[in-house]
Amino acid sequence: MYLILFGAPGVGKGTQAKMISDHYKIPQISTGDMLRKAIRNESELGKLAKGYMEKGSLAPDELILKIIRERFQEPDCSRGFILDGFPRTIAQAQGLAKLMEEMKLPPFILVEINVSEQDIMDRLLGRMTCSKCGADYNKLTRPAPEDLICTDCGGTITTRNDDNEETIKNRLKVYQDQTAPVKEFYKKRGNFIDIDGNNSVEQVYASIINELNQIQKTQ
Ligand code: AMP
Repeated sequence: MYLILFGAPGVGKGTQAKMISDHYKIPQISTGDMLRKAIRNESELGKLAKGYMEKGSLAPDELILKIIRERFQEPDCSRGFILDGFPRTIAQAQGLAKLMEEMKLPPFILVEINVSEQDIMDRLLGRMTCSKCGADYNKLTRPAPEDLICTDCGGTITTRNDDNEETIKNRLKVYQDQTAPVKEFYKKRGNFIDIDGNNSVEQVYASIINELNQIQKTQ
């Protein structure tokens, strides 16, 4: 199964990608997580990406396509994967199409999650993540413990430094200007699922799995 999880920052792509990844036993590929790891490791890639991430603008397409190309070569990708936060521009979608052709991959299923803009702001301002295992916490749905020690792994729970109001506003603008048009690219090319993301995590997950089952039945 080859999936693209699509939607504005904060609609729940990462949370759903982790759950779908467990269900189908295919990896979640999050370009945002890859860049954050590179920044923590102070690698060359991290140095290149840091300034863009802090402003909430997009890292260059060539850089992103390079890390995606390398990631696709890893053995865990052989049965499929879930793309989370990629492609984010038409140029990235075109680069991905070329890569798929080279690797003879089947068409992607694009899953779009929709949430209202006010809810996105509230979710992002309340969001926290474990810096060790990546578990998600949120003031609204799963509040972090007071000591900020992750209940899953004992790691430290932190707030992403791009989850502040000013950067969020820029990320939402970048999404509308550069990423939203990518949807049309896929609508013309394959399966497309539209999911209401305003429901609970479990409800959103159930509707995604239900839609994917329907598609699988017809294939
Ligand atoms: P995310 O974790 O997906 O919200 O991404 C956080 C930040 O990483 C974004 O605001 C961008 O600065 C950068 N980033 C992540 N994925 C991409 C991508 N596909 N293209 C360009 N920049 C990206």
